[in-house]
Parts: sequence; structure tokens; C-alpha cells
Amino acid sequence: MDGDPKRLSRSATPTAPVAPALPAAGRLPRREYHEVLRGQPALVTGANSGIGRAVAMGLARAGADVAVNYVTHPEAADEVAHEIEAMGRKAITLKADVSEEADVERMYARAIAHFGTLHIAVSNAGLQRDHPFDEMTLEAWNTVIGVNLTGQFLCTRAATREFKRRGVVSSVSQAAGKIICMSSVHQLIPWAGHANYAASKGGVAMMMKSIAQELAPHFIRVNSIAPGAIRTPINTSAWETPEAYADLMTLVPYKRIGEPEDVAQAAVWLASDASDYVTGATLYVDGGMTLYPGFTTGG
Ligand code: NAD
Repeated sequence: MDGDPKRLSRSATPTAPVAPALPAAGRLPRREYHEVLRGQPALVTGANSGIGRAVAMGLARAGADVAVNYVTHPEAADEVAHEIEAMGRKAITLKADVSEEADVERMYARAIAHFGTLHIAVSNAGLQRDHPFDEMTLEAWNTVIGVNLTGQFLCTRAATREFKRRGVVSSVSQAAGKIICMSSVHQLIPWAGHANYAASKGGVAMMMKSIAQELAPHFIRVNSIAPGAIRTPINTSAWETPEAYADLMTLVPYKRIGEPEDVAQAAVWLASDASDYVTGATLYVDGGMTLYPGFTTGG
């Protein structure tokens, strides 16, 4: 299909008048890395801590203005916003509980009003409530599903409505919008004692692929990042002592813990036109954790 002008043209909806066809090779001129996301405002949930914070900063470093969502610790969100502004980008902090529909709708409306539109949506907010399965309360189950899965549904839906409304602006990006779902290696690896968390991430995997299939004709790209063990507050007990770290490394062929910046780099790539032909994919950023490390010396 390379060079097929019908396949490569972009429009707000598949039936709307089409924008001018892209060049035969299907690519717009590449921008310098430091500005690949210029003119593409982003909204990142859970952006005042860990991976979300690094992603917000990474997108800003690549040129994006950023809406920094938080639910607690507004001072940490302000700090992220100040650092983004110090890079010469615009930032806004927005309080919202991603599991609450009204909060999410209000947050997206405010971000869109502030920046004029959005091009990038990173649904990153997440939490764990770990219990042996027979001791897991319905509240622990519902809280994790509510934030990790329903929260991603609500945020992705709000982003989709804006991306569809606006369509492609070819001077800014080849896609009408980029959605990035923060999943986990536990969308694949079962996790005893964390059934609610693994179920939420397994749900994200199929939600992401279903939405990607549905939205591709609208030139909206939907992908996931599945981090392995990343050094953040969510999993402090897994890396804070030398013993815990050594234990963790038995699961990581690459023999180092991941840093939030490792995930941020993946998010910048998925948000940029460098990945324009990528949709419905999960990018594992896990140092090989999903490579069955037990088989390194066995099997
Ligand atoms: P973190 O605890 O540092 O960050 C989680 C963020 O989500 C925080 O900002 C928190 O306030 C926010 N959050 C929680 N509930 C919220 C709600 N109801 N509304 C809005 N925000 C809410 O942990 P992290 O490691 O940075 O986690 C970020 C994402 O990465 C999560 O989805 C997590 O499941 C995923 N992840 C992390 C790892 C890891 O090893 N750290 C591995 C795989 C996946």
C-alpha cells in the first residue's frame, strides 16, 4: 500500500472531506528531536509522582505543553509544572480523581480550554491494594479496577472526543491524536497476591487494542507501555534494601532496575510521528522481565 494516496490521506472522520494527501512516501519532514512534540499539548494523569512525573517532563523536553494531573499532593504537581515552565513550555495543574467521571470530564474541559486542544493523552495514574485473594475486600478490588481500568476508560474517552472533533492538523502531527495507556508486565505475567492489579492491567490490554482497532480509521493511535520494575514510590519495598534489590534482579535479565526516565523515552516515541505506523501495540519497558528469566540457566 506504500504511496496509496487514499490510504495516506487524513481527515477528521473517515467520511469528511479529506485533507491534502501526504507526500508519496507518506511522511512529513522529520523535526529535530528536541521539538518533535512542539504544538502538541499533552495531558498526563498521575503526573506528580514516579513514572507520570518523568513522562510529563519528557514530553515537555520534546516540546509539548503539559496538563499535570494530580489527586493528592498539589505541591508536587506545582513543582512539576514549574520545572516544565523552566524549559520554556506551558503547564497547568489539574486536580481530578480519574475514577470519577465528573472529575475527568471537568479536567479535560479545562485542559482543552487552557491549551486550545490536546494531541497527546497519557493515562498513567494507578495504584495497588495488595491482599491474599481470599482476604481481598470488594473495596480493594473496586478501588484498583476503578483507578487503573475505569480511570483509563474515562480519560481515553474524553481524549478521543477531542481528537475526533479536531481531526488531523498536518502541520503539527500525522495523527489526529495519540493515546498512551500505562499498563504493566502484569497484563501478561500472573501476580499472586495482586489479583485486582493484574486484572486491571489485563483489562487495559484488551481495552487498548479494541480502541486502537476502532479509532485507527480516525487516525487516532492508541498504544500501551508495559513497564517492568521501575524505581518509584509504588514499589519501594521491591528495591529499597540490598536484599530486596538482589531478589528483584533474579527477575530482570538486564540486571538493573528501570528508571522513570526509561519509560518517559518510550512515551515520547509513542507520542511522536516517529511511531506513526504503530497502533494497538504494547511496548514492554522491562529489562527483559517478560522473557521468562527462570529459563536463563534452566529449561
Ligand atoms: P506512583 O505511586 O509514583 O504514581 C502513581 C500516580 O497515580 C500518583 O501520582 C498518584 O497520585 C496517582 N493516582 C493514584 N490514584 C489516582 C486517582 N484516583 N486519580 C488520579 N491520580 C491517581 O507509581 P508509578 O510507579 O509512577 O505508577 C505509575 C503507573 O505505572 C501506574 O499505572 C502503575 O500501575 C504503572 N506501573 C508501574 C510500575 C513500577 O514498577 N513502578 C510497573 C508497571 C506499571
